[in-house]
Amino acid sequence: MICEKCGEEFSLSRAKLGYKTCLECGEEEAQRETKRKSKCVAPAYNKGAYQYVTSKSCVVGIYGKK
Ligand SMILES: [Zn+2]
Repeated sequence: MICEKCGEEFSLSRAKLGYKTCLECGEEEAQRETKRKSKCVAPAYNKGAYQYVTSKSCVVGIYGKK
């Protein structure tokens, strides 16, 4: 498989997991994602979790899925 970001080749097993980028680009993406979500996720570790989670999409991100 070829990374759609940098054009480097990456393993098929990774592609099977649904990735379209190589490990390097994927990690970059994941880190950006974590930063974007940190605002939503952080309150979940506090006692008054629900009070701080105001965005519906944030709630779904934390309590939905999985
Ligand atoms: Zn790449």
